Amino acid sequence: MAGLYFDYVVVGASRAGLSCAEAVRAGDGSGSILLISREKYLPYKRTKLSKKLCLDYGPDDFILHDAEWYREQRISLYLDAEAVDLAPEICTLFLADGRKVGYGRLCIATGAAPLALPDTEGENILYLREKSDGCTIFREAAAWRRVAVVGTGIQGIEMAEQFRILEKETDLIGLKTPLMHGKIDAAMSMLIEGLLEKQGIGRRRMTGIDVKTLSKEYDGIVASIGVTPAADWLRGKLDARRGIVIDSFGRTSLPDIYAAGDVTEPLLPFTSGLWHGAEYQGMIAGRAMTGNEARMEPLPFRMKLDLFGKHFYALWYDPVLETDPGVESTVLAALPGIDYCRVLTRKGSVVSVLYSGNPRAGKEIIKPAVKEKAGGSVLIRRLESFQE
Ligand SMILES: Cc1cc2nc3c(=O)[nH]c(=O)nc-3n(C[C@H](O)[C@H](O)[C@H](O)COP(=O)(O)OP(=O)(O)OC[C@H]3O[C@@H](n4cnc5c(N)ncnc54)[C@H](O)[C@@H]3O)c2cc1C
Repeated sequence: MAGLYFDYVVVGASRAGLSCAEAVRAGDGSGSILLISREKYLPYKRTKLSKKLCLDYGPDDFILHDAEWYREQRISLYLDAEAVDLAPEICTLFLADGRKVGYGRLCIATGAAPLALPDTEGENILYLREKSDGCTIFREAAAWRRVAVVGTGIQGIEMAEQFRILEKETDLIGLKTPLMHGKIDAAMSMLIEGLLEKQGIGRRRMTGIDVKTLSKEYDGIVASIGVTPAADWLRGKLDARRGIVIDSFGRTSLPDIYAAGDVTEPLLPFTSGLWHGAEYQGMIAGRAMTGNEARMEPLPFRMKLDLFGKHFYALWYDPVLETDPGVESTVLAALPGIDYCRVLTRKGSVVSVLYSGNPRAGKEIIKPAVKEKAGGSVLIRRLESFQE
C-alpha cells in the first residue's frame, strides 16, 4: 500500500500522544495529523483502570474525547494499529498490518509496559496496563476466591481494594519496605496499612517473590512491580537507554523525530511515569514539532489515593527532606475531617504537605495556599480552622 502521508504522525494515543496532537493542532491549524494506537479503544484515562477494576469496563468508559472531537480537530486516528518499524532516512513508519506511513514530523509516545516477575514460565500472572488487560483480569477474577496482588505501590494498593470490593480474599504482597516506599512518609504508610488491614486485606512481606509457591496458594496473581519504556522496536534506530533519550524540547537524536511520556528516558523529576508528566511532555513535543518551542521544566510531585472512602494526598514529598537539617516538620493534632496532616517547611516556606482526610481540605485549603505561596504558619492556621 503506498501514498499514505501526514505532516505530523504520533505513535501511541494515550496522554502523551494526545497532548502532543492537541499542541500540534494549536500550533498548526491546517497540517494533517495522524494518531496511531495499538489499542482498539478511543484514547482514555489510563489512571482509571486500577481505580475501577471492579467494573466490567465498556469500550467508551473513561475516554478523553469522543469520536466527533477527532473529526472536528481533523486528527486522523488509526486504532488497533501497531507501529513495528521505522526508516528515518525516508521518513517512513511501518505498521504491523503492512501499511507504510510517511511523515513530516514524528512523535513517539508508546508509553511503558509492565515489568514481569522473574521465573514465571508456565504461570498465569496478569498485569494491568491497558483497558484490554483490565477486561481480562475482570473476566478471570470471576472464578477466583483467593487473589495475590504483588507490588505495594499505588497501583497494587488500588487493585487490592478493587478485589476486596469484589469480595475476593485478597493479600497484598511485597518486599519488606513500607507501602508506597519513598512516595509518602512512614506515618502515612502506616495509616494505609491500618486501613487495608481493617478492610480485610492481608499483607505479606517477603524477601523475594516465589511465584511457583504463590500460585499453589492463590487462584489468581496480579502483579504491579514497575514498568519499562516501550521502546524496544526502536532500539538501534535512535539514541535509547532504558527509554528514548530526549532533550528539554522533546527532540530525539534524529531530526524531525520527537518523543514524549513514559517511553522516554527520565530527563527531569516527575516528567515521566505520571499522567500529568506525560501530558506535559506531549505538549512540549507538540509545540516543538510546530516550531513553537518551550523548554521543559521539572514538575512538582503530587500523589492522590482514594481508598475505601479515605483520601490520601502528598505534595512535593521527597524522603531526602527527612534528613535535611533546614527542614522543619509540624504534625497537626487530629482535627475534624483531617486524620493526618504534616507540613514541612524551610525558612517558613512550605516544601511538602502530607495529608489524609476529607478531600475538601486539600481542594479548599492546601491547593489555594500553595498557589498563592502562603507560608507554612498561614497554611497550618487555615488547616486548623477547617470545618467539615
Ligand atoms: C493502572 C494504572 C494506574 C495509574 N494510575 C496513575 C495515577 O493515579 N496517577 C498518575 O499520575 N499516573 C498513573 N499511572 C501512570 C500513567 O497512566 C502513565 O504515566 C501515563 O499513562 C503515561 O502516558 P503515555 O502516553 O506516555 O503512555 P501510555 O499511557 O502507556 O500509552 C502508550 C500507548 O501507546 C500504545 N503503543 C505502544 N506501543 C505501540 C506501538 N508500537 N504502536 C502503536 N501504539 C503503541 C499503547 O498501546 C498505549 O495505548 C497509572 C498507570 C496505570 C497502568
